[in-house]
Amino acid sequence: MQSIGDIINNLNPEIAKKHNLEQIYQQVLADESIQQFLNQHKDQITSEMIKKSWSNLYEYYSAQHKQDPVTAGYRPELFLNHHAIDLRYVPDESKIEQNLRANTKKHLHLINLPQTLHDVRLSQADATSERSSALTAIGKFLAAYPQNPHQKGLYLSGSFGVGKTYLLAGLANQVAAMGKQVVFLHVPTFIAGLSSHFEDNSLQKEIDRVSQADVLLLDDIGAETLSQWSRDDVLGVILQARMDNVLPTFFSSNFAMADLEEHFKETKNAIDPIKAKRLMERVRTLAKEVVVAGPNRRH
Ligand code: ADP
Ligand code: MG
Repeated sequence: MQSIGDIINNLNPEIAKKHNLEQIYQQVLADESIQQFLNQHKDQITSEMIKKSWSNLYEYYSAQHKQDPVTAGYRPELFLNHHAIDLRYVPDESKIEQNLRANTKKHLHLINLPQTLHDVRLSQADATSERSSALTAIGKFLAAYPQNPHQKGLYLSGSFGVGKTYLLAGLANQVAAMGKQVVFLHVPTFIAGLSSHFEDNSLQKEIDRVSQADVLLLDDIGAETLSQWSRDDVLGVILQARMDNVLPTFFSSNFAMADLEEHFKETKNAIDPIKAKRLMERVRTLAKEVVVAGPNRRH
């Protein structure tokens, strides 16, 4: 492997010319744990790779030197990914368990979902390659959440049994562990049960609770049977409120985003492409799609 000096000299000379940038390069590359990583993989790492992976190295360095890097229970870790140095966030077990015990149950409201989801831990979710992009995106969200509680959420799409609900439960417990209010609800059952609120006029209160949660997770969207009313005046209103207040919202669905719009078009007694498009725009604004694949884990 080349010396740090050589590497810096090989970096874009235009940029390296600027004195303060060169200093940053020096500082980042001289960081003890970065040095350790580079040494560990010195046979595989070239200066070309360092150049290409610069933004990851810099993000890693910045995260290391933040005041409280593990507030969220996540710490950054470098790893070799094909021909680049990549960054992932790995759970810090002891910190997470401590937070989880104190806060989780109290702060996570499961609506029409099994209580066993309280016990799901992201740290126990195995990271098969089919779910690594979902786990990475979730890890990134969690690591940034304490500083930035107004991030875009995720839309996990994939077929039945691949673990979408499980991953969302792990995420929900982590956010609850930070003392935030989390609502995780099963959309089909919630929509089907809306009329039960008519008797005691509790519907508005329920819609408010869902709309105002710090983080909302909507499980199995697309599997519900919608009426015009439940689509536009319940689901539409909730999503609009989430958008207006920039509150993180997550979804799981058997439908890819592109197919969900078709589902929204059709209600019990009408077909309405404009309303479907409007609702779909809210979903797209709120969340970024990540595909989860793999075998069906239900037997
Ligand atoms: P989906 O929501 O995609 O249909 P689920 O999240 O319900 O799938 O997962 C299906 C089954 O597999 C559930 O019983 C769940 O507990 C189990 N499961 C999913 N992911 C994991 C995992 N990483 N480790 C252990 N069990 C898992
Ligand atoms: Mg599910």
